[in-house]
Amino acid sequence: MRRLVLPFTGALLALSALPVHAQSAQRPEVAAAAKAEQAKLVAWRRDFHQNPELSNREQRTAAKVAEHLRALGLKPQTGIAHHGVVAIIEGGKPGPKVALRADMDALPVTEQTGLPFASKVTTTFNGQTTGVMHACGHDGHTSILLGIADALVAMRKDLPGQVMLVFQPAEEGVPPGENGGAPMMLEEGVFKTFRPDAIFGLHVFSTLQAGQLGVRQGPMLAASDRFTIKVHGRQTHGSRPWGGIDPIVAAADMVGTAQTIVSRRTDLAKLPAVVTFGTVHGGIRFNIIPDDVELSGTIRTFDLGMREKIFADLKNVAEHVGAAHGAKVEALVPDAKGNPVTMNDPELTARMRPSLEAVAGKDNVVEPPLQMGAEDYAYFAREIPSMYFFVGATAKGIDPLTAPSNHSPQFDMDESALDLGLRAMLQVTLDYLHGASAP
Ligand SMILES: [Zn+2]
Ligand SMILES: [Zn+2]
Repeated sequence: MRRLVLPFTGALLALSALPVHAQSAQRPEVAAAAKAEQAKLVAWRRDFHQNPELSNREQRTAAKVAEHLRALGLKPQTGIAHHGVVAIIEGGKPGPKVALRADMDALPVTEQTGLPFASKVTTTFNGQTTGVMHACGHDGHTSILLGIADALVAMRKDLPGQVMLVFQPAEEGVPPGENGGAPMMLEEGVFKTFRPDAIFGLHVFSTLQAGQLGVRQGPMLAASDRFTIKVHGRQTHGSRPWGGIDPIVAAADMVGTAQTIVSRRTDLAKLPAVVTFGTVHGGIRFNIIPDDVELSGTIRTFDLGMREKIFADLKNVAEHVGAAHGAKVEALVPDAKGNPVTMNDPELTARMRPSLEAVAGKDNVVEPPLQMGAEDYAYFAREIPSMYFFVGATAKGIDPLTAPSNHSPQFDMDESALDLGLRAMLQVTLDYLHGASAP
């Protein structure tokens, strides 16, 4: 460990007031674990990569996870929210409780990486034949958490506190008509008997270079909410619009007016927000004004108040613009359960950032911009003080800004992210457990 020589007593006092767990160097046991796990991480990752499974279909992945946890002498609980697996590692000493989360599902994407272990799996999704690919890197997340299980079990005797490993299914969203993911794990009581004091999660991320970690205090990823607006007019001949009520013109007005919700009525100096229309469906023939038009889209926000206000504003626009056209409107804003904002507890994040710096180097821990994407991990972070961080996935020599992003068929996670992800998560966990148990 490096020591600072400080010339002034005041500075020494300030330093001694720092929390004891703010390690300035990587723990030796973290380096040892990373070395011991390296080959296993790559092997697991490639196996999961070649055998990807869609959300709520993670049978094989979950079985592999449970099998490994059992081999370590743990007693995993399986079948949580369909294919979730949870296990608790009991430390030999008293201390706090921590949960670590990894997601396990893949995407309906046909892989185009050309990697020797590329996925050749195909399936039917939404009535279409598609490839299945770990295009978001959850193969890496699952592997990292298995490696952490190895490391923590090996040091269990000296471990203060307890660690819950949460292998979560269906992060990417469930098929229509199904339930799943983080909210369902919570509904099934995953934290009922074991209430963690803190939860940590990570995500490999194409816009950061391999070797970098990204974290920020407060909002990290957006809340994501879907909406549907049904506009009911009255069908008539295209040559006689006055004979009916035109839902197409009403819908077009709504789309236009809705643009002012963010640009004119949202405090953009506070945080950004997005309202996007993704579908417009209506009509069957060029000269028939149809009965109905249906619009749908997505709302992204970073603040609960802004989120609620945009819901109300959009509903208001839809209903009143519709009324101005004489159309009847059903504005479902939101129309289903969306993901809340992924919040990093400011105090916890400030406290644990030195642990990230200890493994990556101070200059390699960056504050990424707010991400408009969403994570259902947000449900865990809403219940438990959380820190969620990014692990750079774009190989050195490739520009992260132009590299194929997560969800792209060319997304190619640099495997060094496995090593850094393991070291970061393990250091954070140990620093938290040891720090919080220190006098
Ligand atoms: Zn994803
Ligand atoms: Zn993901």
